Amino acid sequence: MSFKDLQLNKPILRAIADAGYDDPTLVQERTIPLVLGKKDVITSAQTGTGKTAAFALPILQLLFDKQDAPKKGKKIKALIISPTRELAIQINENFKVYGKNTNLRSTVIYGGTSIEPQKDILNKGIDILIATPGRLLDLHKQDNLNLDYVETFVLDEADLMLDMGFIDDVKKIERLCPDSKQTLLFSATMPYKVEQLANTILKSPERVEVSPTSSAAINVSQVLYYVPKRNKIELCLHLLRNTIKGNILIFRRTKFGVDKLEQTLIKNGYKVETIHGDKTQNLRQDALKKFKNGYVNILIATDVAARGIDINELDAVVNFDMPNVPETYVHRIGRTGRAGQTGMSYSLCSADEKTYVKTIQQLINVQIPIEENHPYPLDPKAKPIVHKSKKTGSKHKKGRKSVASKKKKKRWY
Ligand code: AMP
Repeated sequence: MSFKDLQLNKPILRAIADAGYDDPTLVQERTIPLVLGKKDVITSAQTGTGKTAAFALPILQLLFDKQDAPKKGKKIKALIISPTRELAIQINENFKVYGKNTNLRSTVIYGGTSIEPQKDILNKGIDILIATPGRLLDLHKQDNLNLDYVETFVLDEADLMLDMGFIDDVKKIERLCPDSKQTLLFSATMPYKVEQLANTILKSPERVEVSPTSSAAINVSQVLYYVPKRNKIELCLHLLRNTIKGNILIFRRTKFGVDKLEQTLIKNGYKVETIHGDKTQNLRQDALKKFKNGYVNILIATDVAARGIDINELDAVVNFDMPNVPETYVHRIGRTGRAGQTGMSYSLCSADEKTYVKTIQQLINVQIPIEENHPYPLDPKAKPIVHKSKKTGSKHKKGRKSVASKKKKKRWY
């Protein structure tokens, strides 16, 4: 199927061609006709499947067909709610790319930054608004926002939205829009609470299920390293020196962990940027820009900060900490191996994280290949090295014998 077959009009087709897209992805093929048919739709698809264009293209098309006032006087006719600022910014960037040959105006509003410029932009009149829930409600409370004309309401990354505690905000926002609107819900996973929300805000929705969350990206080669917790940093440095190449996204579970690893990598001569929730919006945007334009090749992030961010040409994902929610593993490694490219995922698992690996493997129904040939194995049978304590001169067991000389061996469980 081609984009032309999807009945998209010329200005949008030209923009898609300029973006370098040849054919629609599966999620686009299935979702676009439903949106153009004004149906409510639940699409379950991971990031990396082209889901943003799956709603952005038909929304632009619907609005383009009945454009009104050129600038001032424009009313918000499409509202997209996104859980994180980065994702919201990215969605707006996509709307700008796909809508560049139309007069449709989009803007993005999010918290953590001055509200006044956002008010000014809204006052000038826009067609498409992308927003994080908190700031949207603030602006509404201050009477700077009229959602009475919204025709299409999109809830992106609904599962993450609920995980982040936005359920009440989402319901409030939905009620601020007219009853007659079309509602689209996108979610990487469909847990019960998302189904429940969908039942309350969508009307006889059509369903599109493209790749179940349990299917890890097929073009990502996964490898697992068992390593004592205390040796994770050394193993990470060893892998960066010898194995992992290119643009690398490293995940840590906590903000503290992100900062700690950043300091160590910088001390070891690496150019690193970080993103996590404690950083100001400007710092997070700066970090992302430096990574995207190649000024640094390592980005360390927490899951929430990184979810949904589109980084082209990501060569590798490193799970420095194993995620305790198995779906998170799928999201993380789905960041590489996008749009037909191949990617690598390296997971560092300590003894206390073994149960996480078990649940991940159950979810993806794949046994992740284990790399045993590394200097810091977690192997109870390995002979301990005996070190002399500096202070007492006494001998104590520490670490495991290096197996660097061992024959390279990969094991499939
Ligand atoms: P998303 O799932 O929306 O985050 O999109 C993932 C990536 O795929 C983005 O870099 C998009 O620009 C790209 N993309 C979206 N649709 C297509 C397409 N039809 N052909 C090629 N790349 C695409």
